[in-house]
Amino acid sequence: MADPELVDVVVVGLGVGGEEVAERLAEAGLSVVGIERDLVGGECPYWGCVPTKMMIRAANALAEAHRVNELAGSAQVQPDWAPVAKRIREEATDTWDDKVAVDRFTGKGGRFVRGSGRLDGPDRVRVGDQVFQARYGIVLGTGTRPSIPPIDGLGDTPYWTNHQAIEVEELPESLLILGGGAIGLELAQVFARFGVRVTVVEAADRVLAVEEPEASEVAAAALRADGVIIATGVKAERVSHDGQSFTVHGGGAEFTADRLLVVTGRRAHLEELGLETVDVDASQRYLPVDERMHAADGIWAVGDLTGEGAFTHIAMYQAAIVVADVLDQMRRTKGGPDPSGTASVVGGAAGVASAVGGAMSAGGATAAPGSVPRADYRALPRVTFTDPEVGAVGLTEQQARERGINVQVGYTDLTTSARGWIHKAGNAGFIKLIVDADQGVLIGATSVGPAGGEVLSGLVVAVHAAVPLSQLRHMIYAYPTFHRAIEDALRNLK
Ligand SMILES: Cc1cc2nc3c(=O)[nH]c(=O)nc-3n(C[C@H](O)[C@H](O)[C@H](O)COP(=O)(O)OP(=O)(O)OC[C@H]3O[C@@H](n4cnc5c(N)ncnc54)[C@H](O)[C@@H]3O)c2cc1C
Repeated sequence: MADPELVDVVVVGLGVGGEEVAERLAEAGLSVVGIERDLVGGECPYWGCVPTKMMIRAANALAEAHRVNELAGSAQVQPDWAPVAKRIREEATDTWDDKVAVDRFTGKGGRFVRGSGRLDGPDRVRVGDQVFQARYGIVLGTGTRPSIPPIDGLGDTPYWTNHQAIEVEELPESLLILGGGAIGLELAQVFARFGVRVTVVEAADRVLAVEEPEASEVAAAALRADGVIIATGVKAERVSHDGQSFTVHGGGAEFTADRLLVVTGRRAHLEELGLETVDVDASQRYLPVDERMHAADGIWAVGDLTGEGAFTHIAMYQAAIVVADVLDQMRRTKGGPDPSGTASVVGGAAGVASAVGGAMSAGGATAAPGSVPRADYRALPRVTFTDPEVGAVGLTEQQARERGINVQVGYTDLTTSARGWIHKAGNAGFIKLIVDADQGVLIGATSVGPAGGEVLSGLVVAVHAAVPLSQLRHMIYAYPTFHRAIEDALRNLK
């Protein structure tokens, strides 16, 4: 066994979060080893955000074409999956090849190791026969994998996870989707718009159960209008596959389709990380971190692994904090090269991983001493990219009430706004505001509509900066925008 090799920082898992940390620290002049067992970039560019949003773009183009009949004459569309599959293969994923991303990292001075990394005692990471000793710290960004529920028979069937659903070249005639969360609904609507007979089976009593009930209703109605069958309150008890088709048994009913997609949540695999060698409990669901992403002495964690919200923007936000903190700690406690001013925003190289990095990497953390930002998730935005989009930030009404907050709620239906009325076909949506009446500030909001995710930005600023309601009431909202409905919802607060 070779002696441990001394480097500045070891990053295990180069998904969205790990890649960002590794690249920025390498750029800052540190010797960084980045370990990735699959594809550099992780889930988002290859099997997550980017390809699903390409699918959604295509499916929405079809839906818009159908709306011509109501607004502008007549149009006939002939859905064809081939260009979508081709775009995902060629433009998004380079046929699931990460050469561009690896080259980008090594081009910034990082050292790349393909393999599974595992902690091997304090400051050490083992990958195969190699052991690296980290002078300044170890960053874990190992993400999550699909959580497959223990349903009788399911494990013996050739079910799909998001990987097969994204890689599909020829669509099935029918598809069962287990799980009516954001991923399940986005994919259900896409496939339905391409002519697949889709059924969503959800155990909770409504889809998008983490969001406001009104959002669940609008999303379910939109999917039903696309022909999706939605079965809520159905706990799948047994799954069978006869070589041709899948049957899900549950709630006294049976659902059958050519394919079965399981999107019932995701799980971190802490047991694989060697956490016991650094006295960290590996039996937890996620790896808890403090507000500077410390998981243990000399160990930081970023992204889905931390359980703070499974979003690319969270991974990037946390990565910026880790970069600032590693550089700050290095400077203050261990000495070493002064990297101030050398850490820069990553992004811009060709390939889809850069589409993620370029879009998200202005996370804002700087390495100036004493200025390391602390994580603050009060204004965490989340968007389900169905049509209509469901954007939400902060607390839901129920969460706010459970916390004993003196809540006021403001609601307005988008179809009654000037822009909603003008928009007509495809105008479903609403704005719902959750206010802390004692503080006079927004603490949560939901924006559903044709541009629900974009309209959300103003609401995120309001929650993040605790903008007083009086200010929100007396600002000017452009006419006739969708976001002008925020003013109506403010007027309706009670
Ligand atoms: C279908 C789908 C759609 C999504 N859409 C969106 C969206 O629209 N917007 C959004 O914000 N988020 C979206 N997400 C979530 C987003 O993809 C994740 O939040 C993001 O990828 C998390 O990044 P990460 O760095 O934490 O982990 P990951 O991207 O999961 O990367 C972790 C990496 O670590 C590697 N790894 C794991 N263990 C080891 C080990 N021991 N050694 C070496 N390497 C290891 C893995 O191979 C992987 O590459 C979506 C997810 C899915 C599945």
